[in-house]
Amino acid sequence: MIVEATEENIRKAAEILKRGGLVAFPTETVYGLGAHAFIPKAVARIFEVKKRPLSDPLIVHIQSIDELKLLVRRIDERAKKLAKAFWPGPLTMVLPKSERVPEIVTAGLDTVAVRMPSHPVARRLIKEAGPIAAPSANPFSRVSPTKAEHVEEYFGDKINLIIDGGKCEVGVESTIIDLSEKRPVILRLGGVPVEDIEKVIGRVEIRTLTEKPKAPGQLKKHYSPKTPLKIVYGEVKPPKGVKAGLLAFKEPKQGFEVVEVLSPSGDLREAAANLYEALHRLDKAGVDVIIAEAVPEVGLGKAIMDRLRRAQG
Ligand code: AMP
Ligand code: MG
Repeated sequence: MIVEATEENIRKAAEILKRGGLVAFPTETVYGLGAHAFIPKAVARIFEVKKRPLSDPLIVHIQSIDELKLLVRRIDERAKKLAKAFWPGPLTMVLPKSERVPEIVTAGLDTVAVRMPSHPVARRLIKEAGPIAAPSANPFSRVSPTKAEHVEEYFGDKINLIIDGGKCEVGVESTIIDLSEKRPVILRLGGVPVEDIEKVIGRVEIRTLTEKPKAPGQLKKHYSPKTPLKIVYGEVKPPKGVKAGLLAFKEPKQGFEVVEVLSPSGDLREAAANLYEALHRLDKAGVDVIIAEAVPEVGLGKAIMDRLRRAQG
């Protein structure tokens, strides 16, 4: 059931979480499917509903540094600097976990992924309920939801409540950085550009495509529409003999059944914010193939191209 993000509904949602239920809620990146981080049975339901392998750990969402102290064994200088620069916001840090964090949350790993979202509804909900373990509110490997309706279409009555907070502002998932070892490693490209992170802590390694993923966003096929998707790097032309939809960066092109333009002004931030919504619409348009125009690979363009490549598989 979708409800408006009123104070009363947020309190109701917090009660549901504290009793072990599942609540979908808006964040600035995408909608999350949340369970109370300290109730393992509730967290197990997330895996069940999403059909997500138990080997894929979840991100714990917090709204204060005190909560971070509960969840991790140590907060080093790099983590402090990054928290100061990017929290609240679309950055997830992987740190050595404390005993408080149930194994099911971290898939048995000795580290926990933590993020402090900036969305006011998410923050209110966490304040009321406590730390919330939440992946994106989509079935495993499908396109992430950026509107409450997307969540409703995916899960309907399988979850207890969906809080409507409008369209997600960032529109792609958080950047994940692993700080559990000596060298910082980016595990997922996302809402905070790598260039910005390097300004704060210096050079980082990017390791987003591995055989044995540390993060499911690292799987080669992920974030996928049901319709096959093909990326085109040069000039975009409609393919012959098939119904094609176009995911354009700046300008629409002729000859396609449907066209989605990510950002008429060519702004990569705006393009990221519109990416998943456009993919949801193209996937429902009944075309045989989605042609995706490549975007420049700088700033958020890196996260966009990462998602398109995984959607292509
Ligand atoms: P989702 O919110 O569905 O995009 O998924 C959460 C992401 O965080 C996944 O890519 C996880 O693998 C990643 N993640 C969570 N915990 C850890 C961890 N301890 N180490 C590495 N990655 C993690
Ligand atoms: Mg996800």
